[in-house]
Amino acid sequence: MKLVTFTNSAGNRVGVVDVDAQVVRDVSELLPPGAGVLEIIEGWNELAPTLAERVAGLPGVPLDSVRLLAPIPTPRRNIFCVGKNYREHVVEFGRSGYDTPSRSEALPDKPIMFSKATTSVTGPYDEVNSHPGVTSELDYEGELAVIIGRGGRGISHADAYDHVWGYTIINDVTARDLQRDHKQWLLGKSLDTHCPMGPFAVSADEIPDVAALELKTAVNGEVRQSAVVKDLIFDIPDLISTISAGITLLPGDIIATGTPAGVGIGFEPAKFLQSGDVVEISISGLGSLRNRIA
Ligand code: MG
Repeated sequence: MKLVTFTNSAGNRVGVVDVDAQVVRDVSELLPPGAGVLEIIEGWNELAPTLAERVAGLPGVPLDSVRLLAPIPTPRRNIFCVGKNYREHVVEFGRSGYDTPSRSEALPDKPIMFSKATTSVTGPYDEVNSHPGVTSELDYEGELAVIIGRGGRGISHADAYDHVWGYTIINDVTARDLQRDHKQWLLGKSLDTHCPMGPFAVSADEIPDVAALELKTAVNGEVRQSAVVKDLIFDIPDLISTISAGITLLPGDIIATGTPAGVGIGFEPAKFLQSGDVVEISISGLGSLRNRIA
């Protein structure tokens, strides 16, 4: 199932998207009052059968007639993120001089974790604020994001996929100058609107083999990143078992799995984003994000 959050005159609504027909069906009335995508994920075992049974009977409106928000517009807490999780990106990042505090082209032996503030989240087609005066070195990072279903602590590698609800796409927009100068990644990763997400939250049953998914990022139509998820250094079970070793994962938690080679600082000279640039990130089966830099 592909879930979306969209707005109409009644406010924020929850929809199920039929990609082939390019329509969205408003399922808000089938849910407990006020429930959003987060609550559907939390109550998935109870709610999914009702949604699956009744959605086809609801009227569909053209997908392009509504404004999509991020599927989870306000995550419960910061988005978990992973740095340097594709081999060639490790090399380009180490070489760029922006990797701090320890500049290295060596592969990490444990996942490098950081987070993005919830207030960085924005819609799949919304404008990204360029924050002039705060940063002048804006970069993109196309990433597969995992959405946790059943929470837990001490989740084993073998059980990890039982805790995955599904997947979405994020652009881990990064202010490289802040990332470098503050020698810690939170500020450079968390500026408002610097986490475009969506367009859908796709339940795991639609993705038979997540490792086979292909990611592509284009800037103004020029392909910059192209990779397959199986190339992750630390795969999804590695990430879930690492985080949950001492932190309880909660339903709806989002884990951005890292970006492949081809970010702006991987070029010589670096290709930073400018106002008016359009960044499009596509992952097979998950749709595309398309965001213009304001
Ligand atoms: Mg990233």
